[in-house]
Amino acid sequence: MRTPLIVGNWKMYKDPAGTTSFFESFRPLVERSRHCEIVICPSFLDLDTAVSATRGTRIQIGAQNLCWAKEGAFTGEVSGPMIRTCGCSHVIVGHSERRRYFGETDESVLKKTVAALDAGLTPILCVGELEKKNAEAVLAEQFRCAIGALSDGQFREIIIAYEPVWAIGTGETATPEIAADAHRLIRARAKCSFGADAANNVRILYGGSVRPDNAKDLMARPEIDGFLVGGASLNPVSFASIVNL
Ligand code: PEP
Repeated sequence: MRTPLIVGNWKMYKDPAGTTSFFESFRPLVERSRHCEIVICPSFLDLDTAVSATRGTRIQIGAQNLCWAKEGAFTGEVSGPMIRTCGCSHVIVGHSERRRYFGETDESVLKKTVAALDAGLTPILCVGELEKKNAEAVLAEQFRCAIGALSDGQFREIIIAYEPVWAIGTGETATPEIAADAHRLIRARAKCSFGADAANNVRILYGGSVRPDNAKDLMARPEIDGFLVGGASLNPVSFASIVNL
């Protein structure tokens, strides 16, 4: 039985004051939501505020990126141990915006995933095709390069997010059928590389224009174990209604 997981990716939005006021509204709305895990990923500068604002609750905090090195002369970077020390439990790795604007590749995604695991963080590893047409080939290649090289033990610790790039921030959500097909494909790859038990246990989230009005149909598919939510996670009421489906 896979526990559903709902992750909010705040991207480059909010400041400490906005973070505090979000959690003041959000906390009571999800107080009784025990059916799923909740993770919110603010910007690096808001992590401290978010960790303090959620202490003693079931809400967990994650970062949106990390460096593949533990420490060193890497100006502008933030390492896994730093994120962990801050009180975070998760980190998003290989988001399509990182791949598109900051040159991340499957190779760097693999290195960052290993760095996250070494730091005691749970990586939420993003994969997804750019255009609608070639999902199968792209997912197979991303799986082979960014996930396939993990050890069996490492694979058991990761979460995968299927995020078709054409659906991110566009308002065009993948249909539940498209998302379920992609999730089945990823799980089949996982079975080939890591065995049936590991494939059955890994959580695969869907991300791409998830909103309160389309979340229920997506979540009804047994292949979908939760969501990675961008825009709709910025508002406490809309994010809570996705959590409380
Ligand atoms: C995301 O940032 O991962 C995302 C899925 O964004 P949105 O929900 O806005 O499409």
